[in-house]
Amino acid sequence: MVDVSSGPNFFDVAVIGGGIAGVSVARAVAETHSVVLLEQENELAHHTTSRSAAVFVEYEGGPTFDRLASASRPFLEFEHDELDAPLLDPLPMLNIGGEAERSSLEAAAEEAARLSPEVRLVAEDELYELAPMLNPGHVSVGVYDPTAASLDVMALHQLYLRKARSGGAQVRRAARVEELTHGPHGWTVGTTAGPVGAQIVVNAAGAWGDQVGSMAGARPIGLTPMRRTAFTSPVKADPTHWPFVYSRVEGRSCYFKPEAGGQLLCSLSEENPSEPCDAKPEELDVARAIDNINHLTDLDLRSVGIAWTGLRTFAPDRNPVFGWDDSVDGFMWMVGQGGCGILSSAAAGDVAAALIRGQRLPPSLTELGLTIGDLGPRR
Ligand SMILES: Cc1cc2nc3c(=O)[nH]c(=O)nc-3n(C[C@H](O)[C@H](O)[C@H](O)COP(=O)(O)OP(=O)(O)OC[C@H]3O[C@@H](n4cnc5c(N)ncnc54)[C@H](O)[C@@H]3O)c2cc1C
Repeated sequence: MVDVSSGPNFFDVAVIGGGIAGVSVARAVAETHSVVLLEQENELAHHTTSRSAAVFVEYEGGPTFDRLASASRPFLEFEHDELDAPLLDPLPMLNIGGEAERSSLEAAAEEAARLSPEVRLVAEDELYELAPMLNPGHVSVGVYDPTAASLDVMALHQLYLRKARSGGAQVRRAARVEELTHGPHGWTVGTTAGPVGAQIVVNAAGAWGDQVGSMAGARPIGLTPMRRTAFTSPVKADPTHWPFVYSRVEGRSCYFKPEAGGQLLCSLSEENPSEPCDAKPEELDVARAIDNINHLTDLDLRSVGIAWTGLRTFAPDRNPVFGWDDSVDGFMWMVGQGGCGILSSAAAGDVAAALIRGQRLPPSLTELGLTIGDLGPRR
């Protein structure tokens, strides 16, 4: 057995998972610590991170995610030297509903307007101006959020990776973690690419989070990976100036987002529990999304370009789990990012870095009222 308790294969921090969570932690922590990032696949971001709808929205994920999103916005808006285009491209979001959804949409608008005066309730007439593709008769109320944006996910992932590497972080692909043992010199992490040693292990394994936790001897969180499929479909009209439309209409759930080249990104917005796996689309979810979109609009979608499925992984209370395990030394959870893992990733990395450095949460989070207690695994 190779000795990894010191030498070039020993690191301050081993991060498990090369999705957005793992690279955002590596970026923030590599400024002060030696870091190795371990990814089971041959490429990073192979799973949920490369399968999102790529939207940034601050008032959709519940109070904890919303605050993480607000705290992430300055990083996402910053003109990073490494980038040749902005990460965010303004894209208003329009939640729509019928009379059955009126009271919940009114409550959502009131809640969001307390944080941003720009978010507002929209009456029926204006709905059709904002979203001219809607068929009359199905929707009567909406919530309009002009502060939402389209987010360049792969550019953001690359940016975190470049910053992590320039801080000295090493990346090991095809390095599936299969064994975690803790001893007097810290962790020995057994991977399919050989062992590494580390003082601290960060679990950023997405849908596999509970499996990795169990390997370390930690009590599972009770994470549930949920399938969600998205696909592209061409439209005849030019969608460039359309908002991101999200239907809350009972029995007609769906969303669609304008993309380049006259395409829409569409989804049924379903949540179907799954084992951790390389999820693949099912025809029925795509067909139901097309049916709902064609019912609510005059788009007359007929064909599918590409389709993909990702696992949005939730803790039982649907809030993220960021913090030290309470019974296993040197083991940190960065899991349960659900449907907001990309838009909240900059602040998530800062949370991990503060905990690892033994510092308080940054003011960007505490000023919004967020505490370690809101985030930790045994809250
Ligand atoms: C259809 C859809 C739409 C979405 N839209 C949005 C959106 O608009 N905005 C937003 O913010 N979020 C969105 N999300 C959610 C977002 O994609 C996730 O929250 C985020 O990608 C989770 O990132 P992650 O790094 O935790 O997981 P992943 O990207 O899955 O990364 C986890 C990594 O850990 C690796 N791993 C697991 N076990 C091991 C092991 N034992 N050893 C080594 N490596 C291991 C995996 O291979 C994987 O690469 C959407 C998701 C879906 C499916």
